[in-house]
Amino acid sequence: MNCCNCSEPQILCSSGQLFLQPLWDRLRTWEALLQSPFFPATFSITAYVGFCLPFVVLDGLGPSVPALRRYKIHPDFSPSARQLLPCLGRTLYQHVVFVFPATLLHWARSPAHLPRDAPELLQLGHHVVLCLLLFDTEFFVWHLLHHRVPWLYRTFHKVHHQNPSSFALATQYMSIWELFSLGFFDMVNVSLLGCHPLTVLTFHVVNIWLSVEDHSGYDFPWSTHRLVPFGWYGGVAHHDLHHTQFNCNFAPYFTHWDRILGTLRPAPAPAS
Ligand SMILES: [Zn+2]
Ligand SMILES: [Zn+2]
Repeated sequence: MNCCNCSEPQILCSSGQLFLQPLWDRLRTWEALLQSPFFPATFSITAYVGFCLPFVVLDGLGPSVPALRRYKIHPDFSPSARQLLPCLGRTLYQHVVFVFPATLLHWARSPAHLPRDAPELLQLGHHVVLCLLLFDTEFFVWHLLHHRVPWLYRTFHKVHHQNPSSFALATQYMSIWELFSLGFFDMVNVSLLGCHPLTVLTFHVVNIWLSVEDHSGYDFPWSTHRLVPFGWYGGVAHHDLHHTQFNCNFAPYFTHWDRILGTLRPAPAPAS
């Protein structure tokens, strides 16, 4: 057990905390921003658009940089402005009209509390993985249900399938019910596990990145599904198959639920 080289017992901390404490102390200097009622919705939209932007640039460069085609799941597809703008417009509209008031309500009921101590590094990692597994399970059930019940599909999920070849900004092209469901699954697990605010922030960033990567249309050597061993993670190649074939790969990230229920379809091997 290490300590912070101090005599006061209340600031004894482990090596994992030592590692994250400087970062957490730095973040806490922006306490007013982090505790602001505007922060959750602004952070979520900024992270989302920020993660989409590199892919939008790559799509724009695509026609003049043929080398990029080898990383594209659909080499001949590039989203047009007529596809990109409605996606961005819908995301902004839904965040302003629905997400912001909802997060405001949540903030009024339980304002953010920022503890002085950072979380343990191991605990942060363990909680983020657990939250991802829980989110994956919850969305798998929601997604399967919304494909199996025609009324649910037509009313709530069909809009997300409007773009058969997906692209980054199509990630949040969805009905408000689907967006709220995802937001609920995103929030409920961190609350149930009692996650530290830094863990919550990390999980949100990871979750937003993985959802954008799933829809990006790019399968890079460093894509998440290539980094996770044993085919445990489906990622972009698997989710793209879901968008083109509808009846497979219902889990957003991992493969175990589709494997257990027989709905897993492996993505074709990329051209080398
Ligand atoms: Zn679907
Ligand atoms: Zn999708």
